[in-house]
Amino acid sequence: MPPKDPGLRREQSNHPREFAGNVYAYPVVSRRSGGVSIGVNLNLDKACNFDCPYCQVDRTLPKPRQAIVVPAIRAELEAMLAACDANGVCRLAKFAALPDADKRLKDIAVSGDGEPTMVPEFAAVCAMLAELQGSRPDLDFKLVLITNSTLLDRPTVREGIASLLSRKGEVWAKLDAGTEAWYQRVNISRIGLDRIEANLIALGREHPFKIQSLFCGLDGETPPRDELDAYLARLGNIRAAGSDIAEVQLHTLARKPAQAACTPVDAAFLRDLADRIQAEAGLSARVYGVED
Ligand code: SF4
Repeated sequence: MPPKDPGLRREQSNHPREFAGNVYAYPVVSRRSGGVSIGVNLNLDKACNFDCPYCQVDRTLPKPRQAIVVPAIRAELEAMLAACDANGVCRLAKFAALPDADKRLKDIAVSGDGEPTMVPEFAAVCAMLAELQGSRPDLDFKLVLITNSTLLDRPTVREGIASLLSRKGEVWAKLDAGTEAWYQRVNISRIGLDRIEANLIALGREHPFKIQSLFCGLDGETPPRDELDAYLARLGNIRAAGSDIAEVQLHTLARKPAQAACTPVDAAFLRDLADRIQAEAGLSARVYGVED
Protein backbone atom coordinates (compact mmCIF):
# COMPACT_ATOMS: atom_id res chain seq x y z
CA MET A 1 0.00 0.00 0.00
CA PRO A 2 1.28 3.51 -0.71
CA PRO A 3 1.82 5.65 2.39
CA LYS A 4 -1.05 8.03 3.19
CA ASP A 5 1.25 10.60 4.76
CA PRO A 6 2.63 12.90 2.01
CA GLY A 7 5.72 13.60 4.12
CA LEU A 8 6.48 9.88 4.32
CA ARG A 9 5.82 9.44 0.60
CA ARG A 10 8.25 12.25 -0.16
CA GLU A 11 10.93 10.67 2.06
CA GLN A 12 10.42 7.25 0.47
CA SER A 13 10.76 8.53 -3.08
CA ASN A 14 13.68 10.86 -2.52
CA HIS A 15 16.98 9.21 -1.61
CA PRO A 16 19.77 11.79 -1.75
CA ARG A 17 23.21 10.44 -0.88
CA GLU A 18 24.39 13.72 0.65
CA PHE A 19 23.92 14.12 4.38
CA ALA A 20 25.52 16.50 6.91
CA GLY A 21 28.86 16.63 5.10
CA ASN A 22 29.27 12.85 5.27
CA VAL A 23 31.36 11.11 2.65
CA TYR A 24 29.84 7.64 2.90
CA ALA A 25 26.73 7.34 5.10
CA TYR A 26 23.27 8.73 4.31
CA PRO A 27 19.96 8.00 6.08
CA VAL A 28 16.74 7.45 4.12
CA VAL A 29 13.24 6.19 4.82
CA SER A 30 12.93 3.03 2.77
CA ARG A 31 9.75 1.21 1.70
CA ARG A 32 11.54 -2.08 1.44
CA SER A 33 13.19 -1.76 4.82
CA GLY A 34 9.98 -0.50 6.42
CA GLY A 35 11.69 2.35 8.24
CA VAL A 36 15.03 4.13 8.33
CA SER A 37 17.85 2.60 6.33
CA ILE A 38 21.35 4.04 6.59
CA GLY A 39 23.02 3.65 3.21
CA VAL A 40 26.78 3.28 2.92
CA ASN A 41 28.07 4.46 -0.44
CA LEU A 42 31.32 2.63 -1.29
CA ASN A 43 31.39 3.85 -4.91
CA LEU A 44 32.57 7.43 -4.59
CA ASP A 45 33.89 7.12 -8.16
CA LYS A 46 30.43 5.87 -9.29
CA ALA A 47 32.02 2.75 -10.75
CA CYS A 48 29.74 -0.07 -11.84
CA ASN A 49 30.18 -3.07 -14.12
CA PHE A 50 26.56 -2.66 -15.25
CA ASP A 51 25.23 0.17 -17.36
CA CYS A 52 21.51 -0.03 -16.59
CA PRO A 53 19.48 2.49 -18.59
CA TYR A 54 17.25 2.93 -15.53
CA CYS A 55 20.16 3.89 -13.25
CA GLN A 56 19.70 7.22 -11.46
CA VAL A 57 23.41 7.85 -10.93
CA ASP A 58 24.71 10.71 -13.06
CA ARG A 59 27.95 9.44 -14.65
CA THR A 60 28.41 12.34 -17.06
CA LEU A 61 31.13 13.71 -14.77
CA PRO A 62 33.51 10.79 -14.08
CA LYS A 63 35.27 10.77 -10.72
CA PRO A 64 38.68 9.27 -9.93
CA ARG A 65 38.90 6.19 -7.76
CA GLN A 66 39.30 7.09 -4.08
CA ALA A 67 40.54 4.76 -1.35
CA ILE A 68 37.81 3.82 1.12
CA VAL A 69 38.69 4.86 4.67
CA VAL A 70 37.03 2.27 6.87
CA PRO A 71 37.41 4.15 10.20
CA ALA A 72 35.78 7.20 8.59
CA ILE A 73 32.75 5.10 7.60
CA ARG A 74 32.53 3.79 11.13
CA ALA A 75 32.68 7.30 12.61
CA GLU A 76 29.83 8.48 10.36
CA LEU A 77 27.73 5.45 11.26
CA GLU A 78 28.40 5.77 14.98
CA ALA A 79 27.18 9.37 14.86
CA MET A 80 23.92 8.23 13.25
CA LEU A 81 23.44 5.35 15.65
CA ALA A 82 23.92 7.85 18.47
CA ALA A 83 20.89 9.72 17.12
CA CYS A 84 18.64 6.69 17.79
CA ASP A 85 16.73 6.61 21.07
CA ALA A 86 16.26 3.61 23.37
CA ASN A 87 13.35 2.42 21.20
CA GLY A 88 15.47 2.52 18.05
CA VAL A 89 13.69 5.62 16.72
CA CYS A 90 15.97 7.78 14.61
CA ARG A 91 15.88 11.35 15.99
CA LEU A 92 17.80 13.00 13.15
CA ALA A 93 16.34 16.43 12.35
CA LYS A 94 15.60 15.47 8.72
CA PHE A 95 12.96 13.00 9.94
CA ALA A 96 11.45 15.29 12.61
CA ALA A 97 8.11 15.63 10.80
CA LEU A 98 7.51 11.87 10.58
CA PRO A 99 5.72 9.77 13.21
CA ASP A 100 7.94 7.51 15.32
CA ALA A 101 6.53 4.35 13.71
CA ASP A 102 7.96 5.40 10.32
CA LYS A 103 11.44 6.32 11.47
CA ARG A 104 12.59 3.30 13.40
CA LEU A 105 16.10 2.21 12.37
CA LYS A 106 15.82 -0.99 10.33
CA ASP A 107 19.15 -1.53 8.65
CA ILE A 108 22.53 -0.36 7.46
CA ALA A 109 22.67 -1.07 3.73
CA VAL A 110 25.86 -1.32 1.68
CA SER A 111 24.88 0.10 -1.69
CA GLY A 112 25.31 3.55 -3.24
CA ASP A 113 26.45 5.01 -6.55
CA GLY A 114 27.80 1.80 -8.12
CA GLU A 115 28.50 -1.85 -7.39
CA PRO A 116 29.86 -2.10 -3.81
CA THR A 117 31.52 -5.50 -4.26
CA MET A 118 33.90 -3.96 -6.81
CA VAL A 119 35.86 -2.01 -4.21
CA PRO A 120 39.01 -3.66 -2.79
CA GLU A 121 38.04 -2.64 0.74
CA PHE A 122 34.70 -4.49 0.59
CA ALA A 123 35.64 -7.31 2.99
CA ALA A 124 37.18 -4.87 5.50
CA VAL A 125 34.05 -2.71 5.43
CA CYS A 126 31.84 -5.74 6.06
CA ALA A 127 34.02 -6.87 8.95
CA MET A 128 33.76 -3.39 10.48
CA LEU A 129 29.96 -3.39 10.07
CA ALA A 130 29.65 -6.74 11.81
CA GLU A 131 31.78 -5.44 14.65
CA LEU A 132 29.78 -2.22 14.85
CA GLN A 133 26.50 -4.11 14.98
CA GLY A 134 27.88 -6.31 17.76
CA SER A 135 28.83 -3.20 19.73
CA ARG A 136 25.22 -1.96 19.75
CA PRO A 137 23.09 -4.88 21.01
CA ASP A 138 20.60 -2.29 22.32
CA LEU A 139 19.63 -1.44 18.72
CA ASP A 140 17.81 -3.97 16.55
CA PHE A 141 18.94 -3.45 12.97
CA LYS A 142 20.06 -5.60 10.06
CA LEU A 143 23.11 -5.38 7.82
CA VAL A 144 22.13 -5.52 4.14
CA LEU A 145 24.25 -5.89 1.02
CA ILE A 146 22.57 -4.68 -2.17
CA THR A 147 24.50 -6.10 -5.12
CA ASN A 148 24.15 -6.67 -8.84
CA SER A 149 25.29 -10.29 -8.29
CA THR A 150 28.20 -10.20 -10.76
CA LEU A 151 31.10 -10.67 -8.34
CA LEU A 152 29.64 -13.02 -5.75
CA ASP A 153 32.18 -15.65 -6.80
CA ARG A 154 35.16 -13.53 -5.70
CA PRO A 155 36.79 -14.89 -2.52
CA THR A 156 36.98 -11.42 -0.93
CA VAL A 157 33.30 -10.81 -1.65
CA ARG A 158 32.38 -14.16 -0.12
CA GLU A 159 34.49 -13.26 2.91
CA GLY A 160 32.64 -9.94 3.29
CA ILE A 161 29.24 -11.60 2.95
CA ALA A 162 30.19 -14.19 5.56
CA SER A 163 30.99 -11.32 7.96
CA LEU A 164 27.62 -9.67 7.38
CA LEU A 165 25.75 -12.94 7.76
CA SER A 166 27.65 -13.88 10.90
CA ARG A 167 25.47 -11.19 12.47
CA LYS A 168 21.96 -10.21 11.48
CA GLY A 169 22.66 -9.79 7.79
CA GLU A 170 20.94 -10.18 4.43
CA VAL A 171 21.96 -10.13 0.77
CA TRP A 172 19.60 -8.57 -1.77
CA ALA A 173 20.91 -9.74 -5.15
CA LYS A 174 19.82 -8.37 -8.51
CA LEU A 175 18.29 -10.52 -11.26
CA ASP A 176 16.48 -8.37 -13.83
CA ALA A 177 16.24 -10.74 -16.80
CA GLY A 178 15.76 -14.28 -18.02
CA THR A 179 17.33 -14.05 -21.48
CA GLU A 180 20.79 -12.76 -22.33
CA ALA A 181 19.16 -10.50 -24.95
CA TRP A 182 16.92 -8.65 -22.45
CA TYR A 183 19.74 -8.60 -19.88
CA GLN A 184 21.97 -6.81 -22.38
CA ARG A 185 19.27 -4.19 -22.80
CA VAL A 186 18.27 -3.71 -19.17
CA ASN A 187 21.64 -4.16 -17.43
CA ILE A 188 24.31 -4.06 -20.21
CA SER A 189 27.43 -5.82 -18.95
CA ARG A 190 30.46 -7.75 -20.13
CA ILE A 191 29.62 -10.35 -17.49
CA GLY A 192 27.10 -12.83 -18.88
CA LEU A 193 23.76 -13.71 -17.32
CA ASP A 194 24.77 -17.37 -16.93
CA ARG A 195 27.54 -16.31 -14.55
CA ILE A 196 25.00 -14.42 -12.48
CA GLU A 197 22.80 -17.50 -12.32
CA ALA A 198 25.80 -19.59 -11.22
CA ASN A 199 26.66 -16.97 -8.58
CA LEU A 200 23.13 -17.01 -7.19
CA ILE A 201 23.14 -20.80 -7.03
CA ALA A 202 26.44 -20.81 -5.13
CA LEU A 203 25.33 -18.02 -2.76
CA GLY A 204 22.03 -19.67 -1.93
CA ARG A 205 23.65 -23.01 -1.25
CA GLU A 206 25.55 -21.31 1.58
CA HIS A 207 23.08 -18.68 2.82
CA PRO A 208 19.43 -17.79 2.24
CA PHE A 209 19.18 -14.54 0.28
CA LYS A 210 16.65 -12.29 -1.45
CA ILE A 211 16.44 -11.60 -5.17
CA GLN A 212 15.63 -8.06 -6.30
CA SER A 213 14.23 -7.72 -9.79
CA LEU A 214 13.44 -4.45 -11.52
CA PHE A 215 11.10 -4.56 -14.50
CA CYS A 216 10.61 -1.62 -16.82
CA GLY A 217 9.69 -0.76 -20.36
CA LEU A 218 12.51 -0.09 -22.84
CA ASP A 219 11.95 1.95 -25.98
CA GLY A 220 8.21 1.48 -25.57
CA GLU A 221 8.41 -2.31 -25.15
CA THR A 222 7.54 -4.04 -21.88
CA PRO A 223 9.28 -7.36 -21.19
CA PRO A 224 7.55 -9.81 -23.57
CA ARG A 225 6.00 -13.12 -22.54
CA ASP A 226 8.99 -15.22 -23.64
CA GLU A 227 11.29 -13.01 -21.57
CA LEU A 228 9.11 -13.51 -18.49
CA ASP A 229 9.00 -17.28 -19.16
CA ALA A 230 12.80 -17.32 -19.29
CA TYR A 231 13.00 -15.27 -16.07
CA LEU A 232 10.73 -17.76 -14.30
CA ALA A 233 12.84 -20.62 -15.67
CA ARG A 234 15.99 -18.98 -14.23
CA LEU A 235 14.36 -18.71 -10.83
CA GLY A 236 13.30 -22.34 -11.10
CA ASN A 237 16.84 -23.42 -12.07
CA ILE A 238 18.37 -21.53 -9.15
CA ARG A 239 15.94 -23.07 -6.70
CA ALA A 240 16.22 -26.58 -8.18
CA ALA A 241 20.01 -26.40 -7.83
CA GLY A 242 19.60 -26.18 -4.06
CA SER A 243 19.77 -22.41 -3.62
CA ASP A 244 17.70 -20.97 -0.76
CA ILE A 245 15.81 -17.91 -2.06
CA ALA A 246 13.98 -16.33 0.87
CA GLU A 247 11.98 -13.90 -1.26
CA VAL A 248 11.79 -12.31 -4.70
CA GLN A 249 11.29 -8.55 -4.48
CA LEU A 250 9.69 -7.03 -7.57
CA HIS A 251 9.81 -3.34 -8.31
CA THR A 252 9.91 -0.79 -11.11
CA LEU A 253 11.22 2.73 -11.60
CA ALA A 254 10.54 4.93 -8.59
CA ARG A 255 12.66 7.90 -9.62
CA LYS A 256 13.77 9.61 -12.81
CA PRO A 257 16.10 7.26 -14.75
CA ALA A 258 19.24 8.17 -16.71
CA GLN A 259 17.48 7.50 -20.01
CA ALA A 260 14.01 8.69 -20.92
CA ALA A 261 13.48 5.55 -23.05
CA CYS A 262 13.06 3.66 -19.81
CA THR A 263 9.54 3.70 -18.31
CA PRO A 264 7.86 2.10 -15.30
CA VAL A 265 5.61 -0.95 -15.67
CA ASP A 266 2.25 -0.79 -13.93
CA ALA A 267 1.18 -2.41 -10.68
CA ALA A 268 -0.86 -5.11 -12.46
CA PHE A 269 2.24 -6.25 -14.42
CA LEU A 270 4.21 -6.77 -11.21
CA ARG A 271 1.34 -8.40 -9.34
CA ASP A 272 0.70 -10.87 -12.18
CA LEU A 273 4.38 -11.71 -12.23
CA ALA A 274 4.43 -12.19 -8.45
CA ASP A 275 1.54 -14.64 -8.80
CA ARG A 276 3.43 -16.57 -11.50
CA ILE A 277 6.59 -16.68 -9.36
CA GLN A 278 4.61 -18.21 -6.53
CA ALA A 279 2.67 -20.63 -8.74
CA GLU A 280 5.38 -21.67 -11.22
CA ALA A 281 8.66 -21.28 -9.33
CA GLY A 282 7.29 -22.02 -5.86
CA LEU A 283 8.90 -18.92 -4.37
CA SER A 284 7.62 -16.14 -2.15
CA ALA A 285 7.33 -12.89 -4.13
CA ARG A 286 6.47 -9.33 -3.04
CA VAL A 287 5.80 -6.18 -5.01
CA TYR A 288 7.36 -2.98 -3.72
CA GLY A 289 6.83 0.68 -4.41
CA VAL A 290 3.92 0.77 -6.85
CA GLU A 291 0.69 2.63 -6.36
CA ASP A 292 -2.69 1.70 -7.78
S1 SF4 B 1 23.73 -2.00 -11.05
FE1 SF4 B 1 22.85 -0.31 -9.87
S2 SF4 B 1 24.48 1.25 -9.80
FE2 SF4 B 1 25.04 -0.20 -11.42
S3 SF4 B 1 24.25 0.74 -13.31
FE3 SF4 B 1 22.67 -0.69 -12.52
S4 SF4 B 1 21.30 0.56 -11.25
FE4 SF4 B 1 23.21 1.74 -11.57
